[in-house]
Amino acid sequence: MGLLNASQLALRAATCCLRHFSTSKSWLSTKASLVGDRNILLMGPPGAGKTTVGRIVAHRLGLPAVDIDDDVLETTWRMPVAAKLAAVGGERFLEEEGQALCNFSTSGCVVSLTGSNPLHAAAMQHVKESGLVVYLDVDSEDIMQRLARMHVNRIVGQEAGASMRDILRYRRQFYEKWLDVRVLCGRGDTQEDIAEKVLKAVDRYLNHAAETYVSTRSDSVEPSNQKTHFSDVVVEGLATDGGLYVPKNGFPNIDAPEWLRLVDMSYPERALVLLEKCIHPLDISALDLRTMIFKAYGSTFSSEAVAPVKHLIHNQYVQELFHGPTASFKDLALQLMPQLFAHCLPPMCNYLILVATSGDTGSAVLSGFSRLSGTDRHRTGVLVFFPEEGVSEIQKLQMTSFREGNARAASVLSDFDFCQRAIKRMFGESGLTGHLAVEYGTVLSTANSINWARLLPQVVYHSSAYLDLCRDGVINFGEPVDVCIPTGNFGNAMSAVYAKQMGVPIRRVICASNHNHVVTDFITTGEYDLRGRPLVPSHSPAIDILKSSNLERFIYYVSHGDGRLVKELFTSLDARQHFRVPEPLLGRVQQEALAGWCSEDDCLAAVQSVHARTGYVMDTHTAVAKVVADRLQDGSCPVVLCSTAHYGKFAPAVFKALRIQNVPEDPVEQLKTLASTASRPETHRDMMTRLEEGGRRGHSVCQAEYDVLVEEVESMIQDCFLKVT
Ligand SMILES: *Cc1c(COP(=O)(O)O)cnc(C)c1O
Repeated sequence: MGLLNASQLALRAATCCLRHFSTSKSWLSTKASLVGDRNILLMGPPGAGKTTVGRIVAHRLGLPAVDIDDDVLETTWRMPVAAKLAAVGGERFLEEEGQALCNFSTSGCVVSLTGSNPLHAAAMQHVKESGLVVYLDVDSEDIMQRLARMHVNRIVGQEAGASMRDILRYRRQFYEKWLDVRVLCGRGDTQEDIAEKVLKAVDRYLNHAAETYVSTRSDSVEPSNQKTHFSDVVVEGLATDGGLYVPKNGFPNIDAPEWLRLVDMSYPERALVLLEKCIHPLDISALDLRTMIFKAYGSTFSSEAVAPVKHLIHNQYVQELFHGPTASFKDLALQLMPQLFAHCLPPMCNYLILVATSGDTGSAVLSGFSRLSGTDRHRTGVLVFFPEEGVSEIQKLQMTSFREGNARAASVLSDFDFCQRAIKRMFGESGLTGHLAVEYGTVLSTANSINWARLLPQVVYHSSAYLDLCRDGVINFGEPVDVCIPTGNFGNAMSAVYAKQMGVPIRRVICASNHNHVVTDFITTGEYDLRGRPLVPSHSPAIDILKSSNLERFIYYVSHGDGRLVKELFTSLDARQHFRVPEPLLGRVQQEALAGWCSEDDCLAAVQSVHARTGYVMDTHTAVAKVVADRLQDGSCPVVLCSTAHYGKFAPAVFKALRIQNVPEDPVEQLKTLASTASRPETHRDMMTRLEEGGRRGHSVCQAEYDVLVEEVESMIQDCFLKVT
């Protein structure tokens, strides 16, 4: 965690960049006040209720209402809109409608657009400049019923014989292109309900300043005036007081009718709607967010469902979080995070992210950043250092397949701690950071698991698991489920707690540990105690943990934002390796979470017995969750086991569990052997391909000397940033 303090030092040292830092996007986009001369523009499909909602909103705000159909088109054309469409046909209609809108100007009104206005780009560009576009995202079934009731039978596109459902689906992309804010309507919402939501959405848009972030160690008695926005939080990572950033007002709560709208949506669509609610549109516009989300989840996951939920046994389900390019759940965050990060960076500087890893983070970070394109790619790079002898063969091959471009891995002839210390030292050396800034305009940064942009995307898959169970008829919305999570740094578990805060009916978050069970002990006793506790290697190395960094967010959450207490506890942890939470707080902890731990023998036995009974092969982390869920669930509701890695990623342990003799030497052959044993889940093709590539290429190996690592950093910067610009 000292790392990020150091990165802030680096930022400060980079004086050439600091000048530009003060003009970061969050400052630039400070809104001109909407009230006054700007319009509120209601957009949505035919039958969404734009006219009526517009009237109600106008009345409530004391503004004039303008209806494009009635007040502009019909007066211009001197005939009903339907007659015009019948007379000139769809194509000509759109053009004339667009022209009319281009010639129309107003200010300080509530304007109800027509359903087809958004299909005309020039016209929309023109009106969008005059105000805020609010998209009434109404359920298609509601629309069709309403249109049938209103006997509407003339809509652009219908004359070509397309069904109403197809027209509505086709239109959606245009609405999503122009919206500033979405108003997600539940099924059966009345026009008054929708108007109410419009007012709330406009209010949120205008009130950007309310969506700030605070440090988990900030003193609420002494609220600072400084506003911290999304971009700053993402770029800074760690707060200056050593705490972690959290949204000051928690997560938005979503009501049941809105959740139900998400049931039929795809993963990227769910992600878009949910993240729009968590990131203010002035921090990242809805259109930019959409582009990023579809790039992250549109086709990079081998399962179209991205994070599918499968039935395992009895009332247990597995959510497969390993279909990303590097086969661990870290891909869910790290396919999106680099794009959020690049978007938030202040202009003008190059950024090199340094990562030390001994596990799944390395390959996931490399994959995520290597997918950046355009300017982002030209100024954002990542260099991963890993211990030559300290990662599994498969992890090494995954990382070393990245040798060129803006994402590269280098191994070090030392251990993880050496890599970590070397990076920390680089951040702290103002001579070095100043040199890199002046010489190359490059700032060093990190991307570790406490960054808000890594935690936030994870809220989506916990929500998605619940929605899948609703869609598949396992539960009705509102019925509880438990989730069981193999827990290390508590990022995954914390995002489940946040999903619950957003209104997902998760009953208990069950945290599962291996024999390094400091988190489990904390949840069961209220005492976090590192004294005399060595880290003992296990078959589930990704949860071999002593300091669980995101636990700080959990304590902040259960203490209702008591920054002073959090500061006291974590200062004590640093100084005395120990803290204990007050008794009432332990009660709150246990209301949210349960915890248990699993021995090495039990873990391997679970892999074996689940395979014997169901044909499904779990990885060792999933097995830890399975053992703990068996022990702690009370059978009264379904349990979702978070499967955080594909079994192939931890092949040697899985061979041991399945008692397979004659294990092949070559990692690719190992995967093939396991694939022929497992009837489920399917082989991980991306991982296989990467391994084959990694094996062919070889990689650069650094001597265990600080200066050698610094040279590696500098040569990467020269190669990566100077060539392309
Ligand atoms: C990183 C990782 C974990 C731990 O996740 P946290 O969010 O740190 O609790 C669990 N399993 C696998 C396979 C991982 O890679």
